[in-house]
Amino acid sequence: MKILALLHTQESGSLPKAALEILTAAVALKEQTGGTLAVGIIGQGAATAADTIAGCGAESFLAVSAEAVAQPRYATDAAATAALIKESGAELVVAPGTARFARCLPGAAYRAGAQIDTHVASIKAEGEKIQAQRWFYRQRILVTFSRTARPWVIMADAGVNTPWQGASGAAGAQEVAVSFSDTDLRTNVTGTRAPAADAQTIKPDAALLFVAGAGWTKKQKDGQFHIAEAGTLIQDFLLKAAASLGSSKSLVDLQSEGQETLNFMTHMNQVGQTGSTPRHAKGLATCCHGEEPHTVGWRFINERRAVNLDPNCGWAQGKADVLYVGDAFEVMAKVNAMLS
Ligand SMILES: Cc1cc2nc3c(=O)[nH]c(=O)nc-3n(C[C@H](O)[C@H](O)[C@H](O)COP(=O)(O)OP(=O)(O)OC[C@H]3O[C@@H](n4cnc5c(N)ncnc54)[C@H](O)[C@@H]3O)c2cc1C
Repeated sequence: MKILALLHTQESGSLPKAALEILTAAVALKEQTGGTLAVGIIGQGAATAADTIAGCGAESFLAVSAEAVAQPRYATDAAATAALIKESGAELVVAPGTARFARCLPGAAYRAGAQIDTHVASIKAEGEKIQAQRWFYRQRILVTFSRTARPWVIMADAGVNTPWQGASGAAGAQEVAVSFSDTDLRTNVTGTRAPAADAQTIKPDAALLFVAGAGWTKKQKDGQFHIAEAGTLIQDFLLKAAASLGSSKSLVDLQSEGQETLNFMTHMNQVGQTGSTPRHAKGLATCCHGEEPHTVGWRFINERRAVNLDPNCGWAQGKADVLYVGDAFEVMAKVNAMLS
């Protein structure tokens, strides 16, 4: 079995965490299949990046570090990755499911005559039999499957493998020449526009997911709404704890109903059956009662805690590891003060 770990560098020239994660899977597959491993890297500083993973046990390192792939661009990335797949002669290609590869690898797979599967959560081999797993239907059905088609390109989600760690050295990466057409070079990335770091509330790599429920926007014990205060408390906490922000559906739906609500919250933050199911080490739910965010939205959160005024809310009945029965306004003000 010829295996290719297909990676890309990031702007700094180093390999992103997701690339090191898939390398762990590739090294394991090499052992399980008794096959050979090649590593192919595209992007700025690809050959130097190969040196940082020289000790991974790969038989060969291939690189495309041409100026054309210094910027992430579909046409040049698809041409470069297709060239690496063909050059390596790989039967199995594993790659990280980064935004850059999610754009170009389906096209590259087509050009290389390969089949591709995305969002794979696990890859294992018994001899030459490769088995992959991925979730379907909003992460409620876990399917184990295999393909006979070769080459087979598998893109794994971030966070499902531990990042590879090992010795660096001289990898002696072989530069693969790719002939880019004028059309490939037609699109030019002129810059990146991104929100300020503290404006970005969805942070998949954060250790903690903070979930806000509609309770933050309800009348409080003084009979008044305290939405501005809720916003300040939540944003202050997100900043101090570098936490990612999730929301119940009720809270994000308020906006479309024209009610005053937390203006930094969008449907992208919603967790649950009809929202996302993020993976974080810890979770803290506040003012949140819903079944869906807790049972479905939080299914991949390892340690779960909740703050709710109501001891009889669904959380109190065993969905959280710890339930604090208390006023989230007071609790979070105190937590923020402690974090200061
Ligand atoms: C088909 C379907 C799909 C759905 N999908 C989703 C989904 O993906 N995600 C989702 O979230 N929901 C989903 N829902 C909706 C879900 O059933 C709940 O209605 C919703 O999650 C409730 O949101 P909530 O807990 O924020 O609000 P509420 O139910 O209004 O709960 C507010 C909570 O805040 C507490 N509270 C108020 N003030 C304070 C305070 N000061 N301190 C502490 N606690 C306080 C209250 O005690 C209460 O428990 C779905 C529903 C259906 C029918």
